[in-house]
Amino acid sequence: MNAPLLTIVVPCYNEEEVLPETMKQLSILLDELVSNNLISEKSKLLFVDDGSKDQTWSIIYKQSLKDSKIKGLKLARNVGHQNALLAGLFTAKDQSDCLVSIDADLQDDIEVIREFLIRYSEGYEVVYGVRRERKTDTFFKKHTAQAFYRLMKIMGVNLVYNHADFRLMSRRAVEALEQFDESNLFLRGVVPLVGFHSTSVFYDRKERMAGVTKYPLRKMLSFALDGITSFSVTPIRLISLMGFLSFFVSLLFGGYFFYLKFSGQTQTGWTSMITSIWLIGGLQLIALGFIGEYIGKIYKETKRRPKFVVDVDTYNLGVPKEEPVTPEEGGILIDYNPLSETN
Ligand code: UDP
Ligand code: MG
Repeated sequence: MNAPLLTIVVPCYNEEEVLPETMKQLSILLDELVSNNLISEKSKLLFVDDGSKDQTWSIIYKQSLKDSKIKGLKLARNVGHQNALLAGLFTAKDQSDCLVSIDADLQDDIEVIREFLIRYSEGYEVVYGVRRERKTDTFFKKHTAQAFYRLMKIMGVNLVYNHADFRLMSRRAVEALEQFDESNLFLRGVVPLVGFHSTSVFYDRKERMAGVTKYPLRKMLSFALDGITSFSVTPIRLISLMGFLSFFVSLLFGGYFFYLKFSGQTQTGWTSMITSIWLIGGLQLIALGFIGEYIGKIYKETKRRPKFVVDVDTYNLGVPKEEPVTPEEGGILIDYNPLSETN
């Protein structure tokens, strides 16, 4: 078998501090893998700039001029980690035999990619990188993350425990992934659904090399909510269950109140009345909230909006020889604000 062509896809959002080091380490690794004959010498690194506001794209672009195995994909705006990753995978898949996705911050041990490739050569089409423990994560991150996996399990969503988006997929697997036409694509839930022969490789996760996390609590919560509502109807079932329960409880109370009425003790009631009003009101609001969440999803799905828009793609189109001027050629517009009058 010929050595497979590997593309490593790296989503980057405001990663100027860590990017040069990431590029260096990944290209050294790529060269080693080529000389070990594990991958073809046409293998590439694809950096996806997810609408960064700093020098990220300019670093990627300049490096791609110097080094032919480094490619860049610049998205027209920030679409989030998951969609940026998909953009990279779908762009690179036609030219690759297998694809590895990894974060830009070097938290995942890049040496593990070697083991991914060995598994791939054994016939596995999806290889998950799984964190052994979370020694280096902050107390907060560790516990929120664990709570997340537990919650997903309760909700009936099938996830690979402690696996983030560090994995290898064969071209076939990525092609299958592309057929999941939903726009709320929750990658970690969908990849196991794709199927194919899969396995896990364990590794220790390190600290971020530089820069700060791009996943503040707000994004983590919306990520979790997204995961649950795009995969599970458990919340809606719980609501119906609560509805049934409160219905039967109110029947019992009704019987009790009738008994009080006919035995002449009608003084009681204000407290229980006011509490039940609040209780039912609360339940209804929660129910409405969840139903709204699902309707929101239906609304978005029916629009069939593209998941991302590609701005520059030096992967498929090659790098122009001359210094780029316009954004289409890969030039950078600094601080251009279409809404400001001075432009
Ligand atoms: N990222 C992205 N778009 C975003 C947020 C993050 O492409 O809107 C990238 C980021 O550059 C990094 C990866 O997603 O390569 C994971 O982000 P981060 O390391 O900040 O998350 P954490 O490891 O803290 O969960
Ligand atoms: Mg990280």
